[in-house]
Formats: sequence, C-alpha cells, structure tokens
Amino acid sequence: MPQAASPHSKGALIEIRGLGKRFGSVVAVDDVSLTIDAGEFVALLGPSGSGKSTVLMSVAGFERPTAGQILIDGVDCTGLPPNKRNIGMVFQHYTLFPHLSVGDNVAFPLKMRGIGKAERRRQAEQALEVVRLSGYAERMPKQLSGGQQQRVALARAIVYNPRVLLMDEPLSALDKNLREEMQIEIKRLHAELGFTVVFVTHDQGEALTMADRIAILKAGRLQQVSPARSLYERPSNLFAAGFIGEMN
Ligand code: ADP
Ligand code: MG
Repeated sequence: MPQAASPHSKGALIEIRGLGKRFGSVVAVDDVSLTIDAGEFVALLGPSGSGKSTVLMSVAGFERPTAGQILIDGVDCTGLPPNKRNIGMVFQHYTLFPHLSVGDNVAFPLKMRGIGKAERRRQAEQALEVVRLSGYAERMPKQLSGGQQQRVALARAIVYNPRVLLMDEPLSALDKNLREEMQIEIKRLHAELGFTVVFVTHDQGEALTMADRIAILKAGRLQQVSPARSLYERPSNLFAAGFIGEMN
C-alpha cells in the first residue's frame, strides 16, 4: 500500500545539476539545473522537442546524461539503473502489458522486486483502491476505457510507494473530460500520499492548474522556474519566456 511518503520532510529531494544530453550532434538538453523539494509538484513545460522527456528519463535513469549529475535524497544516482532509484513512472501511452490482467500489471514492479505472490496481490489491490478501481484486478486491460487504463498505470507507478512520481504527458492521449478527471485524481493522490511529482506537459493550462512550480524548457535549456501562482497572476512572465504562441 502506498503510504504517506514523508510528506513533511523538508529540503531538496531531487537535484539536477548541469544536466546535458547529446544524441550524436543533437543537443537535447543543455546545462539544466533544477532543485525539487520533497513533496513538491513541479511541471516541466515546453513545446515538443524542447527536451522535457530527456530530462525526465535522465532523472528516472533510462537515459544516461552526457554531462552533469542527478542526485536523489543527496545520493548521486547518475550511474544507477532505474530500479535503484525509488521512482515511479507514468508515460503518455499507458503501456500496460496487454496479456497480463489488471492486477498482474499493477503487481509487476513488486514482482521485479522479488515480493511474494500473496503480498503482491494484497498491495496491488490496495493500489487499485487508491485509484478507485477496486474489484478490477481480474480484468484484462482491453476491457477498460482509456481513463481506466491510465488509472491502472498510475496504480502500477505508486504500488511500491516511491518517493518520486515522474509523469511524461500522462494525460495527453485522453479526451478533455477524462483529462480533467485525471488531473483531479493526480492532485488528490499527491495531496493524500505526499510524494514528489515531476510532471511533463506541453499544455500550459495543465501546468498552471496542477503544479506548485513550473520550469519552462525551450530548445533544451531552462528558461525560467516560477511558482505557478506568480505565472497565474502575471501571465506576462510566460510571454517573457517567449513561450506563448510557440506551443502548438
Ligand atoms: P520533448 O519531450 O520536449 O518533446 P525530447 O526530450 O523528446 O523533447 O527531445 C529533445 C530533442 O532530442 C529532440 O530534438 C529530439 O529529436 C531529440 N531526441 C530525443 N531522444 C532522442 C534519441 N533517442 N535519439 C536521437 N535524438 C533524440
Ligand atoms: Mg516528450
């Protein structure tokens, strides 16, 4: 069961220091530094190709930076594999295993961690309860709606109680109603469970409504980092970042 992940602990949980990533001659991310506190909800906002996914994948450990460091809880994780980082991840396309039941999908990270079957089943059921899908464990993914599948992906990401939840445009494949429903759901989970969220989006409205702080990326560089509230009150700051108008 995902329990409150030290919601009251203070201080930097994720430190991105001078992160750089090249793919051959393409500079995907250039000298990005960002510190995220425990319990914070940070949106990484930027147009397509600005390096958002590469930053997130570097934090998760799926991409190896070509420069800089990633520290989590003060530990240099730059060379560590994803399963050593206590991080849950949700992608744009729910990427459930189609041949596994909902319960087995959710329990998968527990299996990877060598947890026994009865305990896996119990924890998976609890995670499904958190995303309000109790009783769906025996179903197959294709029997679920898009929104339900995305909630299963969320349950799978939180099942082992990670301190950090990384989400890469998790809602962009959903229609407007489902997207709004899931935005509320994710905010509720964040408030209840207290984990730290890094949420990638190219949708400034979504970033403004969901995040505590917004980090704006453009062409691989961090343009500015501001509290969402100050961007709400002074949208000219978004213009100042040369951002509005280049979105879609
Ligand atoms: P975003 O998530 O903001 O759309 P990405 O991080 O996916 O941006 O990509 C940033 C840049 O890096 C883009 O120019 C993209 O084409 C390039 N890129 C990303 N992944 C790869 C890869 N595996 N190989 C080559 N280029 C890549
Ligand atoms: Mg991306």
